[in-house]
Order: sequence, then C-alpha cells, then structure tokens
Amino acid sequence: MTRPVPAVFGSVFHAEMPVIAYQDGTWQPTVWQSADELKLAPGAHSLHYGSECFEGLKAFRQADGKIVLFRPEANIARMQQSARILNLPVPDSKQFLDALVELVRRAANEIPDAPASLYLRPTLIGTDPVIGKAGAPSDTALLYILASPVGDYFQAGSPVKLLVETEHIRCAPHMGRVKCGGNYASAMPWVLKAKAEYGAAQVLFCPGGDVQETGASNFALIHNRTIITKPLTDEFLHGVTRDSVLKVAAGLGYAVDERNFTVDELKAAVQDGAEAILTGTAAVISPVTSFIIGGEEIAVSATEQGNAIRKAVTDIQFGLAEDRYGWLTAVC
Ligand SMILES: *Cc1c(COP(=O)(O)O)cnc(C)c1O
Repeated sequence: MTRPVPAVFGSVFHAEMPVIAYQDGTWQPTVWQSADELKLAPGAHSLHYGSECFEGLKAFRQADGKIVLFRPEANIARMQQSARILNLPVPDSKQFLDALVELVRRAANEIPDAPASLYLRPTLIGTDPVIGKAGAPSDTALLYILASPVGDYFQAGSPVKLLVETEHIRCAPHMGRVKCGGNYASAMPWVLKAKAEYGAAQVLFCPGGDVQETGASNFALIHNRTIITKPLTDEFLHGVTRDSVLKVAAGLGYAVDERNFTVDELKAAVQDGAEAILTGTAAVISPVTSFIIGGEEIAVSATEQGNAIRKAVTDIQFGLAEDRYGWLTAVC
C-alpha cells in the first residue's frame, strides 16, 4: 500500500490530538479532541510571556509492517528539562508516553512507507489567563501532541551552505538547551539575513569563534575517522540525533571527541578534507557542502562518511538493522 506524503513538511495533521491539562496542582486525565483548533484565553501566559516549549520525534513503519517510536524517552526527558527551566509544570513520564503511543496507534494508517514517517510534535504551554503574571509562572498548562505524516527531509546531493556567524548569538546563553519557540524567534533575524545576503540555508552560530550549532540542528566535523562536536553546555540544544549519531559512529569504529573548537580549527579541518554535518530529527544527518567564513566561500569536499553514518541510523529506525541500543518502542 502506498500512502501519500504531503508536499510541505508539517502541513497535514492527524484529525485528533491528546490533550493533558495541568490544573489544581496536578495533571488531569488525557482527553482526545480535534487537532483543528484549540480554545485558549487571549490572555494565556504562553502568548504573552513565552511559557512554551516543544519536542520533535518520529514514528516509523518498518520493513515487516511493525510501527515503532524512536527514542521517545529521550524526548520526554528533554521536555521535562525544558519545563523545569521555563517554570512550567513537568509532564508525567508515563502519561506522556502512553499518549504518544496511543496517538501513533490511532494515526497508524496515515504513516507513509519508508523513507517517509510520522512526525510528532508535543507542545507544552502555560495557560493562566492573567496578563499580570509577567514575572510569575503559570499555575495551569496544557500538553498536547500533533501528529504529521512527513516525507524524507533528506535531499541527497542538494547544497547546504552555512553562513558562519561569529558576532551574534542564537539565543540567551542560559536558554540554549531549552527547546522553545522563543529561541527560534531570537535566531530568526540572522537566519533571514543569511538567506537574503548569501543564499545560505542556515547560520552556524559561533559566538567569539566558538562553534556551537545552527538555528535548528546540531553540528559536527568528521576528520580522520574522528567525530568532533561541542560538549553539552547550557548554550545549545542537546539533540537526540546528535547523541544517536555519536553512539552509532562509535559502534562503526569512529573516535568521538566532544570538545570546544574554533572557526579557525573548523576552516583548517575542512581544508584538510574533513566532512561537516548537521544533525536533527527531520533529516538525521545533512552533509554541509560549503561555509561562508568572513565573506569567503569554502567548499566541503566529501560527504561519504556522513551518509554512511546516516544509513546506519535510519536502518535501525526502519528495522533493517538490529536495535542494538534499545532505541525502539513498539507501538503496533
Ligand atoms: C530540535 C533542535 C535540534 C535537534 O534536536 P534533535 O533531538 O536531534 O531533533 C538542534 N538544535 C535546535 C536549536 C533544536 O531546536
């Protein structure tokens, strides 16, 4: 059976969504409602003071027809971390996972065949209808989950040009590991400028020369069979894909070197034949094809190793390789 893939990523949603309200100091039972609209007070805390965070993860239809979620515990833990930092109620792990699994079960017939998948977008918002709470947390919240069939975001051979930005930061440094809309709004001016002025796909944020990440994905170099990437700090988002790629690469015999490195080192490594990759749930690995550094374009000569590591990860997702790290949750 061939299931259609929407042309635009994240534009089509499963008709219903699980909604979990936090009220009276506790999480209420999960209710199912239409994913077309959400009733919200215009004064809701999230709309005024940014008490919002989200997650992104995927479910896959495997070669034998089974449907699985990829590392949902990691995304739940990350949303719990975002909630703590944003002073939002922390979702209950079991209720959250149960809602995810039930949603995937209900949307199972809409999951396209490989290499497409079902993208899941848990969203947590503060809902207190009180605009006087600028300096106080919301006492009420909603956690809801959208499900969206998506195509293969990975476009082999398409150019990925990054503008290396050393002056501006993506977001406030203490907010980097929070997956929240506010950080995207913060990065937008530099991302739009990079597109308009350089035709760049993304900005690689390297404040003061410290190589961090792009607006929506993590960054790594592959040089002499070593993966080099920044160690986990508060300043950037701790990607689940980053972690998966490091573990799979180690399993393939790569050395993993989590350390700070500079734009000068990046440039020297690329000129010495290093590959450069972006990691994230949507595409797993996107090979970077060139950098703009100080107005000069520097081409990346190879993409083979990144593509091989990508295949090793997607083979686990689609059931073509053994789930040796215990990353899959069976749904149906
Ligand atoms: C979501 C996100 C990533 C990638 O995280 P994954 O868990 O791998 O999808 C990287 N950077 C930012 C800023 C993000 O929001």
